[in-house]
Amino acid sequence: MDQIITPELLKDICIRITGQERYKVNFVDNEYKDDCLPKSYNKGRLAILRYGNRNAFISFSEVKVRGRNSAVQSAASAFNIYYLSKAANKELYYYFLGGGPKFETDYLNATYRQMQTIGFRFLNPEKLSSPIISFSSIEDLIFSRQNTSGKNRSNNASYITKEKAKEIEIYGKTYGANKYAAAMLGYTASAIAKRQGQHITLYEILEGDLKHMPKPSVQILRLMGNVDIVPTNLEFEKDQFKRNNSLRSPRYKVNLLDRVGIKHCALCHCEIPEIVQGAHVWPVSAIKKQALTFEEQFSHAISGDNGIWLCENHHKLFDENIIRIDKNAKIEFHTSDKSSLKFLHKITLENRLDEIYYSDKFFKYLKFRNKAL
Ligand SMILES: [Zn+2]
Repeated sequence: MDQIITPELLKDICIRITGQERYKVNFVDNEYKDDCLPKSYNKGRLAILRYGNRNAFISFSEVKVRGRNSAVQSAASAFNIYYLSKAANKELYYYFLGGGPKFETDYLNATYRQMQTIGFRFLNPEKLSSPIISFSSIEDLIFSRQNTSGKNRSNNASYITKEKAKEIEIYGKTYGANKYAAAMLGYTASAIAKRQGQHITLYEILEGDLKHMPKPSVQILRLMGNVDIVPTNLEFEKDQFKRNNSLRSPRYKVNLLDRVGIKHCALCHCEIPEIVQGAHVWPVSAIKKQALTFEEQFSHAISGDNGIWLCENHHKLFDENIIRIDKNAKIEFHTSDKSSLKFLHKITLENRLDEIYYSDKFFKYLKFRNKAL
């Protein structure tokens, strides 16, 4: 620590925050307690600078970026400590201990933007080659997520999208270090939504070891006041599957997001999230008629291979089998009415489904669907 946080560096921080360069250092240890910090404080790569009645919380970057999760984890932890601290006149800062391309990946740039949106002030932003710009709207945040997770999608990314009636939904992956990224996404969305009087539902997608988000994060999201946290409960979803033929399952949506990326109508490229839906290829009503075990039926119903993103128009046309997809993924129109046909041609920009959808399971579901026509 002494080798990293040098006197020159501390002087630099003092000047940037207070305009003067003299300081005294206290290390928080067993002897020296600090009222601003929680009992377990060794998180967040954090220092507190006191000047007059000001309490400046300073989170440090790594010297060398080890992995994207580590940076997000320490920023989220620092924010948690800052937010829950009872200190008066508190301020939150971030200080870069390094620079260069590894500090400026798309993912990290988007993380800095999230940090600035929730109140971090960057002490030495000149370490980056371009300025950090806060997110101005939920759409801005949704599209930044699309750009950073679009090509190299990992099954560990959290998602943010919009549903009907402007309801904002976050699908937060809570496995391992992803839970910090989920919390950061929640904080950012909450800060933006508050300005616009909007509400957020955050689904915790519990996997593997069934880890929830960190307790302080849950506490903060509740304090923020416009976020409902809903742990995804497979039992609840199974119950819904038993009762209904149309499945509004968070798990189904996440599986589809993992497989083909953010909402985007496969037939007309509509990206307005409020009107793009997950359309079952093998319909839930048909799955239920099969002589399969309940668990088998349910797993077909929530499979990401059993879905296409379609806008409301195309979803309805697909459900009515006016638009069909043949075994080679070619789009077909089934109507004898000329003006309807003209309309279908006008609104449908693809004549073959995009390759991102192709998988053995997808074509199996397509076969099951078409067999019933
Ligand atoms: Zn469409």
